[in-house]
Amino acid sequence: MYRDGQNQNSKNVPILQVKGLKKYFPIYGGIFLRQQGVVHAVDGISFDVRKGETLGLVGESGCGKTTLGRCIMGLYSLTDGSVTLNGEKVVTAKGGRVGQALKLSRLKMQMIFQDPFESLNSRHTVGEILEEKYIIYNHLGITKYKANERKKEVLKLLDRVGLSSDVIRRFPHEFSGGQRQRIGIARAITLEPQVLICDEPVSALDVSVQSQILNLILNLQKEMGLTCLFISHDLGVVRHLSDRIAVMYLGEIVELAEAQALYNQPLHPYTEALISAIPVPNPQFKKTRIILKGEVPSPINPPKGCRFHTRCRYVMDICRCESPHLKPSANSHFVACHRY
Ligand code: SF4
Repeated sequence: MYRDGQNQNSKNVPILQVKGLKKYFPIYGGIFLRQQGVVHAVDGISFDVRKGETLGLVGESGCGKTTLGRCIMGLYSLTDGSVTLNGEKVVTAKGGRVGQALKLSRLKMQMIFQDPFESLNSRHTVGEILEEKYIIYNHLGITKYKANERKKEVLKLLDRVGLSSDVIRRFPHEFSGGQRQRIGIARAITLEPQVLICDEPVSALDVSVQSQILNLILNLQKEMGLTCLFISHDLGVVRHLSDRIAVMYLGEIVELAEAQALYNQPLHPYTEALISAIPVPNPQFKKTRIILKGEVPSPINPPKGCRFHTRCRYVMDICRCESPHLKPSANSHFVACHRY
């Protein structure tokens, strides 16, 4: 599924590559605050995002989606693996962000955060928030925006996200959730990035404004030729935005496919269950919902073998001892399951 105005060939060029990314958080406890375990938040994830496409990343809360987005941005140090942008390594396990690549990658890759209030500095006006990046990159010697040029750029950004110029002197608490998210989006598209990581950008908003924000992101993506990694727990939302979708479970990707193929023919039992839970706005249409039994296992001590085996209705003996790898099953359809 390719949206209007996008070149199908350009979609095959990977712009963002994630290789073997792991992020473990240590747990400290006891009188001497010794390390007592680790949370396996993200456990060996690899994928490419092609130029101009939207890759949806879905999964239940706590499966590691947001941690993965933050690791890609370099906001968390990596336990293992690397992130490559335009063929250049920008985040690695040992060096965090790599020298100059660190500074430049922030120009090319930006993030829209889930909570539009927490992600904006409440002591700064909208004008100051949006001007900050120009000032930082001037200091780094990468851009040379004079004060009046910065003001003009900020006004252009506000116009692009549908806010009037008079908001420039107001503070974040003076806005509604939807307007705050527009400010967050304006900040993310400052200095024309190539890649946007959208971390559940509408989950904290009223249903009535969710579609406005999603349309804004879609329009900006078309206008600016942006590549998006769209993180959400809502498969319904991701379906309408994404070219391909990756499904995450307990820190691992269990299925990756073109959006249409994933919806029409989900292969992994977890994806099957997620899709069966999407409500259909037609009372005549009867759908069988697959109810997953049991709780999501703890990422501190994930189950051996297939991590989904404690809830899978097709579980086999091999699933309890051998971990399935993400393998191609059909055209660009990858699945991590012993049934395929
Ligand atoms: Fe279910 Fe086994 Fe496939 Fe895991 S590997 S999803 S337990 S069938």
